[in-house]
Amino acid sequence: MAEFISLISGSSGNSSLISDGKTNILIDCGMSGKRLTELLSSIGIAPNRIDALLITHEHIDHVRGAGIIARRYGIPIYATQGTHSAMEIGNVSDDIRHTVSADKSFEIGTIGICPFSIPHDAAEPVGYSLFCGNTKFSLATDIGKMDEYIMGAIRGSEAVILESNHDVEMLKLGSYPFPLKQRILSDYGHLSNERASEAALELVKSGTRQLMLGHLSKENNRPEIALLETYNTLTQAGVEIGSDATIRVADRYGITRFGEIT
Ligand SMILES: [Zn+2]
Ligand SMILES: [Zn+2]
Repeated sequence: MAEFISLISGSSGNSSLISDGKTNILIDCGMSGKRLTELLSSIGIAPNRIDALLITHEHIDHVRGAGIIARRYGIPIYATQGTHSAMEIGNVSDDIRHTVSADKSFEIGTIGICPFSIPHDAAEPVGYSLFCGNTKFSLATDIGKMDEYIMGAIRGSEAVILESNHDVEMLKLGSYPFPLKQRILSDYGHLSNERASEAALELVKSGTRQLMLGHLSKENNRPEIALLETYNTLTQAGVEIGSDATIRVADRYGITRFGEIT
């Protein structure tokens, strides 16, 4: 049975895992090698059983422990050319570096992978859609704005980790310096709760049954505010939460699982 699990999620660090019982793929490692090992062991996966580490982009909340675990366990790292060049993860031998490109599908073991471009202030950032048999999963975070191209890439996913980064009013009124506020609000920043809720509705219409809101800002959001925004948008459109679709918020520091994937 395929499992898509958020290990940690938020502006402080991000990492998720997809496993079909045969192949284990980690996406991003925005935490220490020690913390990753602890989290993996709590779900019964030894770090040396990770077959690949996919990187979305070079920001520290995505790559903090990437170099350490790649070196320690010999885990191959997959990233775009731009991300490979931009990420600072210490010495990682070229033998374990693999280059991916947006819209070019490939396979690792039994899992199919398709990267897609995302608008974000990084060198060459991507999100990922992952295929286990006929089931599609997607990770769509660090997205300045949702557009038809991204929606096309993630449409039809059974379960999606979708960015719901900030409440726009909290961000505007909050303590961040003006340039940082502008960056987050820009088309190359992060997806607001409101924009996430609209994307969530489109996803549910396309057949997505499980949504996990992720990459929440610590300063400019609250899990209950993010959840309520998407809940309201879905219910106002006639979606029955629980039977048509489920929504949850990924934990900032710990593991969050989807419900059973059927
Ligand atoms: Zn980022
Ligand atoms: Zn990020």
